[in-house]
Amino acid sequence: MQAEIIAVGTEILLGQITDTNSPLVARLLATLDIDTYYQTVVGDNRERLLSALEIASERADLIITIGGLGPTPDDLTKQTVSEFVKQTLIEDQPALDKILDYHQRTQRPMSINNRLQALYMADGQPLLNETGFAVGCFYQNPNGPDVLLLPGPPWELEPMLVKHALPVLAENYQQSGVLFSRVLRFYGIGESRLVTQLANLIENQTNPTVAPYAKAHEVTLRITAQAKTTDAAIKLIDEMEADIMAEVGDYFYGYGDDFSLEECVGDLLINSNLHITAAESMTSGLFQSTLGKVAGISQVFDGGLVTYSPATKIALLDVDPEVIEEHGVVSEATACAMAVGAQKKLGADIAISFTGVASGELEGHEAGTVWIGIAFEDDPVQAFLYHFGTERQKNRERAVMAGLDLIRR
Ligand code: ATP
Ligand code: MG
Repeated sequence: MQAEIIAVGTEILLGQITDTNSPLVARLLATLDIDTYYQTVVGDNRERLLSALEIASERADLIITIGGLGPTPDDLTKQTVSEFVKQTLIEDQPALDKILDYHQRTQRPMSINNRLQALYMADGQPLLNETGFAVGCFYQNPNGPDVLLLPGPPWELEPMLVKHALPVLAENYQQSGVLFSRVLRFYGIGESRLVTQLANLIENQTNPTVAPYAKAHEVTLRITAQAKTTDAAIKLIDEMEADIMAEVGDYFYGYGDDFSLEECVGDLLINSNLHITAAESMTSGLFQSTLGKVAGISQVFDGGLVTYSPATKIALLDVDPEVIEEHGVVSEATACAMAVGAQKKLGADIAISFTGVASGELEGHEAGTVWIGIAFEDDPVQAFLYHFGTERQKNRERAVMAGLDLIRR
């Protein structure tokens, strides 16, 4: 089975955005033994897309288009592909209901173009878009290569591909049996190091297959197995997981597409009824805001402090002015004093503190220098030093992830 991926979008062609979708699609297709032979990028233009489809149909069994399923006039993939394979478009009722319901609820005016997002090819199969409105479509073409239409936004493409498109492809292209997959999540190891460490497992396996995927500041691995029964597939996955854990188990924190580091930490705190607070300088509330994403966190998170200036660290956290004077704000001593101060003020079991340089330079420290303090029950307070990069937002996010990781451990 040979596939060609066509990423549609003038913004990709012009280098305004990077095509992250095609590599993901190729990796996940490989889990089904579908090889990607060509990847094409084409602008939002009917004639050039038709020509790309023409070329692809001469050398591929399956054509996958990415993007251009949305409601704006430049979104013409669905119309163009259906013209190419001579299919009429019909409305998917559940998708239409979702669009109608959204516009009614939010009292937004609905244009005819919004309705177009519910269209799919009459002899094809609509693919549910859980995180957006545009339905995808898989069409088994009796007269040429099959086509799969996927949306452009990565947060729409990934769930549609994983949950809806891959099972349909597996069903159509594989003789028998079940396809089962499991997602492992890792923090604290970069994608390239993880791939290097698991090179043998990733390269030499055909069943199960292991596909890495980098998310913001973390990496996931999808293990996919094919077998006669679900139990047999699970057994294959269990064995592969054990091999993976032997190599990189230290960095593993949880399972599933929808799981996150904050949820891992939140669940841990809730289950052990440990109350947490935070004193944040360079993250200015981002840690607390991230923790706030976890359902039920209010059971163990009563509140915390944002103390940007030395003065607020002294006034709100009782940090000794001499500590700041002597060691500076970006220091182990200040991080420890902030954590202890927050723990006392809020009466919490765990207090975490963040002080560092998000961008520029401070007290002679370069951007990305961060101290994270942890006060846990009556244990001696500790602080940990990190050196991240130069980008302000990334440094703040990475500090939060590192803080969550410290609590988890
Ligand atoms: P929408 O409903 O948002 O218009 P769409 O299916 O029409 O979705 P596009 O309009 O092509 O998709 O792209 C929407 C956005 O998705 C782009 O602006 C870009 O941010 C992202 N995107 C599209 N294609 C890719 C790609 N190949 N890789 C990464 N991001 C992409
Ligand atoms: Mg669009």
